[in-house]
Amino acid sequence: MKASDVKEKILSALSAAEIPDAQTDTALILREICGISRADLLADPDKEVAEEAAQKALALTEQRAQRIPLQQLFGTACFMGLDFTVTEDVLCPRPDTEILTEEVLRELTDGSRFLELCTGSGCIAVSLLRYSNDCTGIATDLSEKALEIARKNADAILGETSDALTFLQGDLWEALGDSEERFDFVISNPPYIPAGDIPSLMPEVRLHEPVMALDGGADGLDFYRRILEEAPRRLKGGGQIFLEIGYDQGAAVSRLCEEAGLIEISVIRDYGGNDRVVRAMRPVLNG
Ligand code: GLN
Repeated sequence: MKASDVKEKILSALSAAEIPDAQTDTALILREICGISRADLLADPDKEVAEEAAQKALALTEQRAQRIPLQQLFGTACFMGLDFTVTEDVLCPRPDTEILTEEVLRELTDGSRFLELCTGSGCIAVSLLRYSNDCTGIATDLSEKALEIARKNADAILGETSDALTFLQGDLWEALGDSEERFDFVISNPPYIPAGDIPSLMPEVRLHEPVMALDGGADGLDFYRRILEEAPRRLKGGGQIFLEIGYDQGAAVSRLCEEAGLIEISVIRDYGGNDRVVRAMRPVLNG
């Protein structure tokens, strides 16, 4: 089949299914499955695509038309310039979460030790280690299946240095068991969507991503309450917490930080101008 014909078939199937950005997804499928870039298509629209690749692209298009996220279909997502394996057991890494990761990276120094709660695909913890020196961390998740993916990502991206990251299964702090360790940084992108908002999320998210990674309880703040209740006992003096938040949760999460006795609380925006990260510090002189 000619490249331009494959393209037309993909595009018309995705458009008929009302996929929001059908043009972009068409280009991505052509490139990923058939090895044909936009430039290739312009230069030589009649280029023959091997039958097997064309059929594979069309089969994948049918699945995309069922609103399965493209990253799940490809099995990978790019985050911080790195390729992460993703499945339906983890939230696809979001570009917004790069803001959180970059803010933490700005503060990490050689030898820093961090704890990441609700690691999912591991994209935050693995990126932090990939772009820093001599840091170590613990990453936790309630989902054993998510931890399997996160371990795989750590091995693939960090190679021999993946032993700088320890993965622990458990419900937030419970994953730490009897340990009383304090950390330089506590980081989390917890579930924060108010339960009642979940039915109105995009079908890609609502139907194909793990709801346990999204549902933040009635007001979306359940995880922040549980994280901030314990955070002061888990941060070293001068240690910092970084939390990803929903666009309208800046004030509420800042208040929870204040109630926990944390200081230097700030809300950081994403590139879309929405509040995205709350950062706070445990005072140095505080028992
Ligand atoms: N930002 C994600 C979304 O829009 C939600 C992530 C989360 O709950 N941690 O789907």
